[in-house]
Amino acid sequence: MRIPFNKPFIPWFSFVYLVRGLYSGTVAGNGKYTKKCHAFFEKRFGFRKVLLTTSCSDALEMAALLCRIEPGDEVIMPSFTFMSTANAFLVRGAKVVFADTLPDVPDIDPAEVEKLITPKTRAIVVVHYSGVACDMDRIMDIAARNGLFVVEDAAHAIDSYHNGKPLGSIGHLGTFSFHETKNIISGEGGLLIVNDAEFEKRAEIIWEKGTNRAAFYRGEIDRYGWVDIGSSFLPADLVAALLYSQITRFDNIQSRRKKVWYAYQQLLRSLEEKGLLKLPVIPGYATVNGNIFYVTLPSAETRDQLIVFLKEKGISALFHYQPLHSSIYFAGRHDGRELPNTDRFSDTILRLPFYNTLGKRRLRYVAETIAEFFRQGSPGKNLSS
Ligand SMILES: *Cc1c(COP(=O)(O)O)cnc(C)c1O
Repeated sequence: MRIPFNKPFIPWFSFVYLVRGLYSGTVAGNGKYTKKCHAFFEKRFGFRKVLLTTSCSDALEMAALLCRIEPGDEVIMPSFTFMSTANAFLVRGAKVVFADTLPDVPDIDPAEVEKLITPKTRAIVVVHYSGVACDMDRIMDIAARNGLFVVEDAAHAIDSYHNGKPLGSIGHLGTFSFHETKNIISGEGGLLIVNDAEFEKRAEIIWEKGTNRAAFYRGEIDRYGWVDIGSSFLPADLVAALLYSQITRFDNIQSRRKKVWYAYQQLLRSLEEKGLLKLPVIPGYATVNGNIFYVTLPSAETRDQLIVFLKEKGISALFHYQPLHSSIYFAGRHDGRELPNTDRFSDTILRLPFYNTLGKRRLRYVAETIAEFFRQGSPGKNLSS
C-alpha cells in the first residue's frame, strides 16, 4: 500500500467553475468569484471585512504594511513556524524577536511574549499551529496593556475556534492560506481578515496597488487615483473561481477531514497509553479543524527512524518546521536565547499522511505500521522515563 502525505482534493466540477470564471466578464482580480468568496467568509464566520490574496504570505505582508511596521520596530512571533510569518515583517525592516512555545502545545507561550516586550515592540504575531488556537485571552490582554497590534497567522486554522470565536477574527488582523496543503485550496491563495475598523479603507487601497479603485467600482467616488503605497495583492478571478468550487463543498470537506483526525486519535491512543508517543494536546479553549495530524516521539532519533520505517512500508510521514531562530538565514541574527520547547517540538514532531479521502483501511494500516515499529524495538527512550 502506498500512502502519500497529501492529496489535493479537487471536486470533479471544479473545471465547470474555472470555465464559468473564464467567461464571467472579468478574468483579472476583484471579479464575480472574488466577491462570492468574500461574501462566503464574511457571512459564514462573521468577519468584518476580508480580501482574497495571492497567498497567505502576501496577506501577512499586507498586515505588516497596515501596522505601519518601520525599520527598528520589534515584532514578537514564534520560532516554530513557516518563514513567511517572519519574512512579511523583515521586508519592512522589522526586528523579529522569537518567543518559545508552550511546553505541551506547539503554540506561542504568552508568558514568554510578555518577557520580550520593549518600548520598541509594535506587534505580536501568533500562529495557530495545526489549527489549534493559541491562548488568545492572554495574548489579547498583553497586547491591550502594551498598546500592540495582534496579527493571527491562521494559515492552518480555518473553521477552528477559540472559546467559540473563529480563529482569524480575534486579533486586529488575521490571515488564511489556500495553498494545496491546507483545508480548502486554490493552488496558491490566501485571505486577509480585517477585524479593526481602523484598517478597513487602507486594506483595500494597499490591495489594489495603492489606489482607491475598489471604492470607485462601488460608485463611491467618480475617479480613482494613487493615494497610498501598495502592491498587487489580489488574485485573478479564475483563482477565486477555483476556491469557490471548494467553498460549495466546505462542510463536506471539513467533516471528512475531522473524521480523519479523530480516527488517528482513536487508533493511536493505545500507543500513547503505553508511553511510546504523545498525541496532540487540545486546550479547553481550542477546537480541532482537521488541518494536519501529528504525533510527538520521545526523541529525534526515534522520530527519524520511524520516518524511514514508514517510508519502507510505503507511508509518507514528515517532520515539520526547522526553528526559524536557528535557520541558515536567521541564526546569525538571533539574540542567542535558547528556545527549548521549540527545539523539542522540531526534533520530535511527526506529521502523518492527511487528506480528505484517506479511508479507514489506510488509516488502520498507518496505525498498525507505527505499532509494528515499536514492537520491533526502537532505541529511543520511553516517554515516561
Ligand atoms: C502555509 C503557511 C503559510 C504560507 O501560506 P502561503 O499561502 O503558502 O503563502 C504561512 N504561515 C503558516 C503557518 C503556514 O503554514
